Amino acid sequence: MLSIDFLKNKKIAIYGMGKSGCSVALALKRGGALPICWDDNAKAREKASMAGLSLEDLSTSDSWPEFSMLLLSPGVPYLHPFISKVVDRAIKAEIPIDNDVGLFFQNHFHELEKDKSKTSKTIAITGSNGKSTTSSLVHHILKNSLGSVQLGGNIGIPLFDLETALSVDATVMELSSYQLEVAKFLNADIAVFLNFSPDHLDRHNGVEGYFNAKKRLFGTSKRQISIIGVDETEGIRLYNELKARGFGPLIKISTKSIIKDDEWSVSVVSGILYEYRYGKLVSEIKIDRFEGLPGQHNHQNICAAFAVCRILDVSKDEIKNYLVNFEALPHRTQVIANINGVLFVNDSKATNAISASKALNSFSNIHWIVGGRAKAGGVKSLIEDTGSVKKAYLIGECAIDFSAQLSHVSHSIVDNLENAVKQAYNNALPGEVILQSPAAASFDNYKNFEQRGNYFKKLFDNIRKKVA
Ligand code: ADP
Repeated sequence: MLSIDFLKNKKIAIYGMGKSGCSVALALKRGGALPICWDDNAKAREKASMAGLSLEDLSTSDSWPEFSMLLLSPGVPYLHPFISKVVDRAIKAEIPIDNDVGLFFQNHFHELEKDKSKTSKTIAITGSNGKSTTSSLVHHILKNSLGSVQLGGNIGIPLFDLETALSVDATVMELSSYQLEVAKFLNADIAVFLNFSPDHLDRHNGVEGYFNAKKRLFGTSKRQISIIGVDETEGIRLYNELKARGFGPLIKISTKSIIKDDEWSVSVVSGILYEYRYGKLVSEIKIDRFEGLPGQHNHQNICAAFAVCRILDVSKDEIKNYLVNFEALPHRTQVIANINGVLFVNDSKATNAISASKALNSFSNIHWIVGGRAKAGGVKSLIEDTGSVKKAYLIGECAIDFSAQLSHVSHSIVDNLENAVKQAYNNALPGEVILQSPAAASFDNYKNFEQRGNYFKKLFDNIRKKVA
């Protein structure tokens, strides 16, 4: 486990004691710093205290003049939708604000200074959708081909629960806009921008703020290699900006067209992956229907993972072998099993319309369970993606709004997920699909998308037992 040695004897304020807050506080403590922690939630405070951490209400504390920095957890707003009392105090006291990601990159640099023969790489992946899948896929391929590779960040493994750079060949990090917005140091060796669609607008004060947060990962060092999805205008903007500023190598990825004319590109079109370098085709592989990577949207994730691994000199054949045995992550277009020919698919992580559209385009004859806490725009953008929906079952806080937006689809409003699954199963014929792809956040009824997906799986198990 890591310790942060370069802040010895410094007093550090930490706000938000979830997994990553506790992890960075303990790493600071191991390295001889003095973390002072706070969370507005009593349960989180109790957990931190049980872990041996010191607590002080940072909104009323007298210690501000002594703090060297404030570390924010991703769950705590930074500048939007409001400035918390704690952040306000740090700003007024002119205390730098950072987070565990910024400290991780700094710590990584300090670790490598201890042994110049080591070249441990950092690979950071961001985008609106597909981050967890792509990070896990890169981790899966590299740990089989390269050696000692670790995975952490937004995927649920705090960065300071990982190992020192001196003992691993590479660290793969999934990074969200909340993390990127705050981190002071972001010098990843390989940085990936998968795709872009509006999300989390309240936390970033609109779409431009969200894009700017993601952009912070790029152009941070001349050594950095960037992989950029150019299927949306934001990716093209980012690519052009980096090129104009003289950064490179830059690798374009696309699932819309075969890109041949740039320095380096990876594209998937009609089930074939093409890698071009300086106009020359260097790899071509057939993208079969890999069981762990269903649907066209995963082609984009495959392009990104392929590009990362090629930078690290993994051969195309080796990459293909590991694509075959990649296991699907739970809750992401996850095929559970079928009951009497009716297929159940858990896509609880589809918390926005774009990710739901991918699942809707991956199956036919769909009984679609949709709804939760609506994101901006709801499901208005899905008109062209509902052609395969036989019936929609609208649940959650937004059911009435979604009903108006889905007037072109046969649907009914149902009081909860249990009844939606029951009704869908009663209506579905063999060969049809029951897809839980909410296009909305889970927080109206569940702690998180995992709890929602696990409940769907439990309802599936109940039906299976009944019909057995
Ligand atoms: P993230 O970590 O960015 O939320 P995940 O890999 O966990 O992404 O997938 C979240 C949701 O997005 C799932 O519903 C999944 O099927 C869908 N998804 C995965 N990859 C992509 C992609 N490249 N583009 C759009 N949607 C995707």
